[in-house]
Amino acid sequence: MDEVLNLTLRAAVHDRLDYLDTLVGKADELSKSRLADTVITQLTSAWRELLAAHEPDEHGRCPACSAPRLFGRSRCTVWRTAHSCLIADTAGRSRSGRHHFRRRGQTP
Ligand SMILES: [Zn+2]
Repeated sequence: MDEVLNLTLRAAVHDRLDYLDTLVGKADELSKSRLADTVITQLTSAWRELLAAHEPDEHGRCPACSAPRLFGRSRCTVWRTAHSCLIADTAGRSRSGRHHFRRRGQTP
């Protein structure tokens, strides 16, 4: 049952991202402006919540991604992904939702 719920949640998130990509590509400027007013706040809140869940402990381990039996550094990639998406990759990119991840060989 958890697998069905997870698939449903993932599909809903991908559908929402695709919908937003479509609006960005096809909506008029006024609609885009109104969309930005709500979606930017939602996205920054989502990033903050995600980053808080992956904040490393005093040993540099992510509490969400590090199994208790593992020692050493976390395999968490959330902070690198955040930096890539929000800072390093902001100039001249052309993203289009899940297709961006597939082109880069990442799991959506
Ligand atoms: Zn993590």
